[in-house]
Amino acid sequence: MSAVGYIKRLNVFRSKLPRAFKGRRYCSDECPDEKKGLILGVYDGENEEPVFTKAASKFNDHLNGKLLELVKTGGCEIKRGQGRVYNNLDKEFWSVAIVGLGKEKLGYNEMEAIDEGLEAVREAAGIGAQLLKRECVGRILIEGLGHPEQAAEGSALALWRYQENRSRQHWTAIPTLELFDDSDAESFQRGLFKAESQNLARRLSDTPANQMTPLHFAQETVNELCPCGIKVMVHDKDWVESKKMNCFLTVARGSCEPPVLVEISYCGAHQDQKPVLMVGKGITFDSGGLCLKKCEGMDNYRADMVGAAAIIAAIRAASALSLPINIEAVIPLCENMPSGMAMKCGDVVMGLNGKSIMITDTDNEGRLVLADALVYGQMAFQPRLIIDVASLTPGVKAALGSSASGVYCNSQTMWSQVRKAGVITGDRVWRLPLWKYFTNKVTKFRSHDVNNKGLGHGSSCIAAAFLNEFIDCVDWIHFDVTGVGFKSEHKNYSYLTKGRMTGRPTRTLIQLLYQLACPSEGQRKLD
Ligand code: ZN
Ligand code: ZN
Repeated sequence: MSAVGYIKRLNVFRSKLPRAFKGRRYCSDECPDEKKGLILGVYDGENEEPVFTKAASKFNDHLNGKLLELVKTGGCEIKRGQGRVYNNLDKEFWSVAIVGLGKEKLGYNEMEAIDEGLEAVREAAGIGAQLLKRECVGRILIEGLGHPEQAAEGSALALWRYQENRSRQHWTAIPTLELFDDSDAESFQRGLFKAESQNLARRLSDTPANQMTPLHFAQETVNELCPCGIKVMVHDKDWVESKKMNCFLTVARGSCEPPVLVEISYCGAHQDQKPVLMVGKGITFDSGGLCLKKCEGMDNYRADMVGAAAIIAAIRAASALSLPINIEAVIPLCENMPSGMAMKCGDVVMGLNGKSIMITDTDNEGRLVLADALVYGQMAFQPRLIIDVASLTPGVKAALGSSASGVYCNSQTMWSQVRKAGVITGDRVWRLPLWKYFTNKVTKFRSHDVNNKGLGHGSSCIAAAFLNEFIDCVDWIHFDVTGVGFKSEHKNYSYLTKGRMTGRPTRTLIQLLYQLACPSEGQRKLD
């Protein structure tokens, strides 16, 4: 039976409720804040006998075994990905959600490239939080479920809503989260930091394009990062012109919104340590330019700056976690619009490294702005590693759907680090090729050095080969995130709201930065 079915059956416990509340949801303002909910876990047992987690069995003892009785009389087991709510069990808690964690001691699954134990906790916490939110509790207490960090991540991600543009009286109240009966408050707090960072990326990328112009985005960056002691510099069009970033300016020219370039410095390590350079695609709206996109779904391209958003969110988390690492970020922000000033098909512009670029497709604007940002960043900061994040091609979505970011990497060591990060966070990555085959598709032209469309199929690989023309001899990781960063279309993850932007791969970036900052500390063996 579905979870909803159980909730209906268990409404019998609500017979003590005042009449006015019966048979309807009473969310938002009517939610009395003091109502508390509790999330407890259960593993698959042998012979359909449920096995409670430590905290759940303690709570069951406190109820003299009533919880176990109820779970058993409910019929079939609470499997992984399922949950049930019980009301009026205990004086303290209005609702108790029991969530299924699957088999005990799940772990790293090499074929799936994921740590299933951690992911099962995120899933279960997400389901529990959503069930309890429907019960309109003001406070949610959640046990650690064996992994308090992931319990915090799953529940905090699941509770996020985008409601900034609704009238205040229609806002849904978001319950607060607290750890229940677990001593590892530090891990729980770390999980909350990470989820909050991803929620920041979700908000920035979900905000309508007229409310998230390049200037708005720069202001948000200042608001979010400066209070954490991170240095943010906002450069205007004159500065961009003085640096001769012609490709970036060519893209920006089509719009009345002026371009902005944001530079971010986070100094967590000794100042002599070479920084990691992060570059994010910040197209705040991509209409496709003269190669206009289809009307249907064009609104999704408000999130064409999810690369930039994920980087900002990851740097904020790096600071919250005090990671000993130096990071420099370069974020080019502009719109891609058709107009009398817009770039035309066949235009040729000069990249900062002296390579001429033909713009065959004006909808391939991301790689143009990134080319300038990458060359500028390498010249200005001499990084030890470059990480760029961009919603670059629909091709990566065609290949991988929303399962993983397409990752391109010129170093085997770095690739194994990124892979490990994806395994741990559940926000996976999959390596795609940076072969000469694709380089030839973007460079073998008689009239210019590099082409922004290239020849033939494999658009994601072609885009990566294009960017490779602007990378010097330095380790480089490129994330193509069109599949993961845009709307969560199906119910792929219980902890991400369907139909809203995901903010992915923020947590994988945070994990990667952590691994780079603390190479020897507490890393489990996954290679
Ligand atoms: Zn485009
Ligand atoms: Zn784009």
